[in-house]
Amino acid sequence: MDDPYCVGQSPTPAKAAAEGPFAECVLCREPTEYPESTKGSTLCPVCAWHEAQRTACSG
Ligand SMILES: [Zn+2]
Repeated sequence: MDDPYCVGQSPTPAKAAAEGPFAECVLCREPTEYPESTKGSTLCPVCAWHEAQRTACSG
């Protein structure tokens, strides 16, 4: 079972969307693609990818 997070693909940084405001990433404080009204922790695409990779590739 190939995990896409484990094959060395780079995250694709999302282009900054034209309209805001967006919630900021809880890790790096970069704007995310989620609206500011999003509840809970928001992660930018890069941090979300790293989190997923860490989970998928732990060990
Ligand atoms: Zn981030």
